[in-house]
This record gives sequence, C-alpha cells and structure tokens, in this order.
Amino acid sequence: MSPVSFLPVSSLLIKHAAAVATMDGAEHHDAGLYAEDGWIVQVGPTADLPETADEVVDLAGHVVLPGLVNTHHHLYQTLTRVFPGAQDSGLFDWLRVLYPVWARMTPDHVRNATRLGLVELALSGATTVFDHQYLWPNGSRIDDQFEGADGLNLRFHASYGSMSLGESDGGLPPDSVVADESDILEESVRAVEAFHDSERGAKRRVVLAPCSPFSVTSELMTESARLARELGVTLHTHLAETGDEEEFCIENFGCRPVAYMDRLDWTGPDVWYAHAVHVAADEVLRMGESGTGVAHCPTSNMRLASGLAPVTRYLDAGVPVGIGVDGSASNDSSHMLGEVRQALLLNRLAVSHGIGAGPQMTVREALTLATIGGAEVIGRDDIGRLAPGYAADFIAIDLHRVEFAGALHDPVAASILCNPVTIDHSWVGGEPLVRDGHIDGVDLDDLVREQNRLAGALVE
Ligand code: ZN
Repeated sequence: MSPVSFLPVSSLLIKHAAAVATMDGAEHHDAGLYAEDGWIVQVGPTADLPETADEVVDLAGHVVLPGLVNTHHHLYQTLTRVFPGAQDSGLFDWLRVLYPVWARMTPDHVRNATRLGLVELALSGATTVFDHQYLWPNGSRIDDQFEGADGLNLRFHASYGSMSLGESDGGLPPDSVVADESDILEESVRAVEAFHDSERGAKRRVVLAPCSPFSVTSELMTESARLARELGVTLHTHLAETGDEEEFCIENFGCRPVAYMDRLDWTGPDVWYAHAVHVAADEVLRMGESGTGVAHCPTSNMRLASGLAPVTRYLDAGVPVGIGVDGSASNDSSHMLGEVRQALLLNRLAVSHGIGAGPQMTVREALTLATIGGAEVIGRDDIGRLAPGYAADFIAIDLHRVEFAGALHDPVAASILCNPVTIDHSWVGGEPLVRDGHIDGVDLDDLVREQNRLAGALVE
C-alpha cells in the first residue's frame, strides 16, 4: 500500500498595513491578509488574522491595494518613445512615421522591449498586463514575448495581433508590414496551443487581436472571432479611436465603427475594444447589452488628441471598463498608477464638457477601473479584489515618502492623487514580484543599456 502524500501548504501573512483597500467596499486600518498557496483566505484588521504563517511580512506604514490590471499596451513601442517626427501628430500621421521603423525590429528587439516594458509596469503597480503586438517582422514571434517575460512573476496576457490590409488594398499600413491571412490564422492557433493557460490563477494567456478596422480585412476579423471562440480565448482590437477612423469606416464599410463590429459578430463579454472614444449614446447602450468591454487609455487619447471617451456613460450602461496605459509610443511612459490618475482627471474634464453623465468620478471609482474593472474586461474572475478565493495579487507603497507628506489621513486616495513614482513591493499569487523597489533576477542597468542599443539601431 502506498502512503498517502500531502503537498505542504505554503502560507503568507501580511500585517499592520496602515490601510488595506479590498475594492469590495471595505478599507481596513492596521490590517493585512492571510493567503495559502497563493490564494487569499482572509482580509481584515491584524488582530483578526492568524498569528503566524510560513512567511510573515510587517507592512506598517504602507498602503496595500489589489495589483493593478493593464488592459492595453504595446510593449515593443518602448523602443520608439518620443520618436522624431511622431511627437506632435495625430494617430494616422503618427502611424505613418512609425510603421517603417517597427518593420526593422528583430526578435532581440521584441524580447528586450517586452521585458523592459513589463518591468516598468510592475514597478508602477501592475501585476497583470495585457499586450497587443500586431506586427512580427524579421522572424519575430509571440515566443519572443514569452521569452522576454520569462522568470517575471506577473500575469502576462500576450496577443497574437495582426495586420492584413496594406496600402495597395486601401489600408493604412504599408504593404511591407502586413501578413498573409492564412499565415495569421495558422499562427493564431499555434500561439494559443503553445502558450495559453485557461485555468484560474493562470500566469500566461493568449488573446487574438487583429489590429484595427483600417489595417485588417473584414474577412480576417470574422475568421479571428470564429477561431477565438473555437479555441476558447478572448478577442481584442482598437476601435473608434479617432475621427479619421470613423471616416474610414463610413467610407469603406458604410457604417460607424461600432455598427461594423456588430456586423462582424465582434461583440460580447469575450471582446474588448481599446479606446472606444467616438461612440454615440445608442452604441454605448448596445455595448452594455452585449457586455463588450473597453480599455480606456486617457494619456494616449490626450497625446494624439484623439478625443474624450464617454467613460461614465459606459459605466452607467454596464459596459465593463478597465484602464489601458497604451505605452509606449503614444504615451511614452508605461506607468500604471499614473494612468489611473490620468483617467480620473480626464473623466472629470469629460463630464464637465458634457461627454458622459454626472456625478463626477471619485478616486475610489478610478481605482476600481484599474482593478475590478480591468479583471472583468480581460475575462478574469480570480483577480482584481482582495477577498477570499481571489489570487493574492497585491501592491504595497511606503507612505514615508515626499509625495505623501501631509496626506496620511487617506493613504488610499493619496496612492492615486499624489502620483507616487514607484511602488515598493508587490506579490502575485502570494509570491514576490517587486521587493524594496527591485525585481529579483532583473539587472535594470543591463536591461536599459540593451534597450538603448536596440532602439538606436531602429533610428536611420
Ligand atoms: Zn493601442
């Protein structure tokens, strides 16, 4: 008879944090959480938690929040920040400058840029990142992104993004950066089979993400949706970002962007759009009815003068909304906490200018977008809040810093409004990601040096 074996349970106790925001309506003081095997068992005042665990961390003087979820990014664009000729233009001209530059990327560029961008996002509060890479030049593959993320303890959702509608067929991108549609579909299947983990607690997932209405054919959109549903993965694209795109859709498809998506069966809780700025009131309601989500990208929308997204209208209509940093060439930064602040500020402006309904968004609501909202948008029911049964993904910021001086009466609001430069610690699935402002296994000097060398090679 073979002996019964038990896997040892590994437990983590966080205690004495100045404030813990669960995002479930509760904020505890002198508090913490207790987790087993990476899953939260209990959250609350230190006095109510177990007295000990395998690992005990005293977070006195820190604010603790759920790990933030980034719902839209382009990690490879960390190679082309503040690019000459693309600093002062709107979306289409910005893309026309950058497409040929991105076409020079190699697998080395993709690997290093992925790692560098993920590190930058992690240091500013992200514990889950969705990335949208939509061109794969010179032999680069989604494998290079997963290699770049290798060893980083965060939840990384990469996408197999694509472009198939070149200039000669009426699209915006030059023919040199678009791919053959049968190759795209074949690679989509391979990417999902090789890297997608559908389990709760997954650290790696794959999304299918044709780039935008002006760079992909209707056929590829439809086929990608069919394939994603067959494979059980989610769908993402840029939509209704600018007035230029709206004109393109009316001219080429005879309808506005959201109606075009309705026609292609690109709606539902398994779909989310980046930006969704130019969306009319009736279209907002339709998105709410179908449960189609939005990655709201405030900095990019300001940087490219794209417009004001009707975020509060989305929330009223039940549209899931998360925050997308959309770095790093139309934002130039990959700062997660900073983007929450931008979302708050821009939406106050939007409401005061009649885009969206009042009352004004609160600080806690902005934080909800970056946590619970982001999790819902990317299709996860295991992250986004600090509650029993959820993954132990959380961040901690030391309140003894110059940005917080004078704000200790409300550490949760201060973590957004006072614009902290970095976080101090984070955990993903109960394991450390950031420790004392550093990430184990990452030599930041080497990473930055290599990034600058690779970026230099892209400038002609
Ligand atoms: Zn984007």
